[in-house]
Amino acid sequence: MALIVQKYGGTSVGSVERIQAVAQRVRQTVAEGNQVAVVVSAMGKTTDGLVKLAQEISSQPSRREMDMLLSTGEQVSIALLSMALQALGQDAISLTGAQVGIVTESEHTRARILDIRTDRIRRHLQDGKVVVVAGFQGISQSSDLEITTLGRGGSDTSAVAVAAALQADTCEIYTDVPGILTTDPRLVPDAQLMRDITCDEMLELASLGAKVLHPRAVEIARNYGVPLVVRSSWTQEPGTRVIAPLRSPRSLEGLELAHPVDAVEFDTNQAKVALLRIPDRPGIAARLFGEIAAQNLNIDLVIQSIHEGNTNDIAFTVAQPSLVRAEAVAAAIAPALRETPTDTTQAEVIVDQRIAKVSIAGAGMIGRPGVAAKMFSTLAAAGVNIQMISTSEVKVSCTIDAEDCDLAITALCNAFQVTCSPLEAESAAPSATPEVRGAALDLKQAQVAVRHVPDRPGMAARIFALLAEAGVSVDMIIQSQRCRLVNGLATRDIAFTVAQADAEQARTIVEAAATELGCGEVLVNVAIAKVSVVGMGMIETPGVAARMFKALADDGINIQMIATSEIKISCLVNEADGVKALKAVHGAFGLSGSERVVVPA
Ligand code: ADP
Ligand code: ASP
Ligand code: MG
Repeated sequence: MALIVQKYGGTSVGSVERIQAVAQRVRQTVAEGNQVAVVVSAMGKTTDGLVKLAQEISSQPSRREMDMLLSTGEQVSIALLSMALQALGQDAISLTGAQVGIVTESEHTRARILDIRTDRIRRHLQDGKVVVVAGFQGISQSSDLEITTLGRGGSDTSAVAVAAALQADTCEIYTDVPGILTTDPRLVPDAQLMRDITCDEMLELASLGAKVLHPRAVEIARNYGVPLVVRSSWTQEPGTRVIAPLRSPRSLEGLELAHPVDAVEFDTNQAKVALLRIPDRPGIAARLFGEIAAQNLNIDLVIQSIHEGNTNDIAFTVAQPSLVRAEAVAAAIAPALRETPTDTTQAEVIVDQRIAKVSIAGAGMIGRPGVAAKMFSTLAAAGVNIQMISTSEVKVSCTIDAEDCDLAITALCNAFQVTCSPLEAESAAPSATPEVRGAALDLKQAQVAVRHVPDRPGMAARIFALLAEAGVSVDMIIQSQRCRLVNGLATRDIAFTVAQADAEQARTIVEAAATELGCGEVLVNVAIAKVSVVGMGMIETPGVAARMFKALADDGINIQMIATSEIKISCLVNEADGVKALKAVHGAFGLSGSERVVVPA
């Protein structure tokens, strides 16, 4: 007998008929000899409807009252599903988050789960009941026992957390698509189903905009080794397996809060090449990285900062043995990048062999703005200057002077209480590791840039600490390569993205910081889109970045900012170009296929 946690999303329980169909599926699972806990979302678009109601009353409703309101949606669906099961003769009981013992922090509207007290669920399961749990909600740890919610899309997180707590044999996420697809089928109709994907890849995709799974659900699956599948509510097809690494048993205490960082990693075998003052127009990155790929050189980090006037800087790192050839390619290309022979743009190539890359890695840093800030302040306190910064949701990497590497590692290991060892290997190898497994589009981000930040330790630390204190999550932080002299002081630009909803708050905070630190102007642009590709195989495959940049260039799309991690490449483009960019990139990596996914209303 297996213990199975099933989760049904809003569309899957969107009507009485659909709830009855879900009840049939649950009963069938029980009939096959399993114990079943079911987590459900609110029916259809109920939560959106409740948000709208609140907005009709107040433009800034209290977050506590929002939780009180939004948590009602799930309470309707658990009661109805439980009744539907009982009507089929299946013993069942519905429980709210509080009744289950889903204990969270008190942060309303974005609470993290601290613990799940499983006694009551276990007792009902022992008695042969199906337990129907309200997703998305919990109860605060404080003596006030406040109702909390986990953030939009959070029912996935409830389900995986319950599965981790019960040490369930599997957690099945039932939704309105056949599984995890190469991209959102609503935007790209020829997106194809994946048979499997690693947790690391899915974490990146989910946090880059693939709404099919809540990133925190993937984070818990990864940390607790929960076997996870995403399947269609309408068919019996197997769906997509999300492969978690093998984990030794881990305490449930601090479920979503313990260990934001799993490892400190470093690489002293890297060298940096930067091209300064290259024209800001489509096709430049494509051409540069096309030549690099033609030489079969594998690049690691790529950073393109915000443009200044009509020029841009692009910097990348390569393994040291490749430096001479990479520099030659860059030097050969630089003069050809002028607009016209009379162009005054003076592209310049600089290389640096004495760099080291230090990174902190861990799924627990998602949505926790303090973690990157802590890395920067730790480096600053150790007197280490940061040259390049590149972030993904699960990793922050900085290039620093090679001489500072030991100092940086010691300081980071102490600060995050980890040893400097890489993560364990994935438990089961996925079917293949394509260089690009999927693509995602995020239209809900805004870009913030600070010009002329003094180039000395502690600047990034201060800016991101202030944002973290205000609870503003930042993403895709990059620091430019070009060092400009302002009043005799070396400066660099720092740019990053935040959720559009946080853009004005971020502007206020960063403007104050800029005044305090003596930086230049602060720019905010909400009309941007972030298009990304993700795949484990890109670590070993030269030319992936080049193909992405070429796909965008061929469609005449200008890239405003680039940031990469080992397994993803993200580009910021104009908001109006977002969907076109996603389609171009999806096609360029051969992700399109002949299957057509029809998403029900
Ligand atoms: P549920 O209500 O079941 O939680 P969601 O609407 O939250 O469903 O998530 C499913 C939706 O996610 C799909 O209908 C699809 O439009 C969207 N989506 C975005 N990216 C992907 C992807 N890579 N694979 C599958 N679905 C995706
Ligand atoms: N009902 C909540 C929402 O719409 C939670 C969820 O569906 O996952 O965000
Ligand atoms: Mg969802």
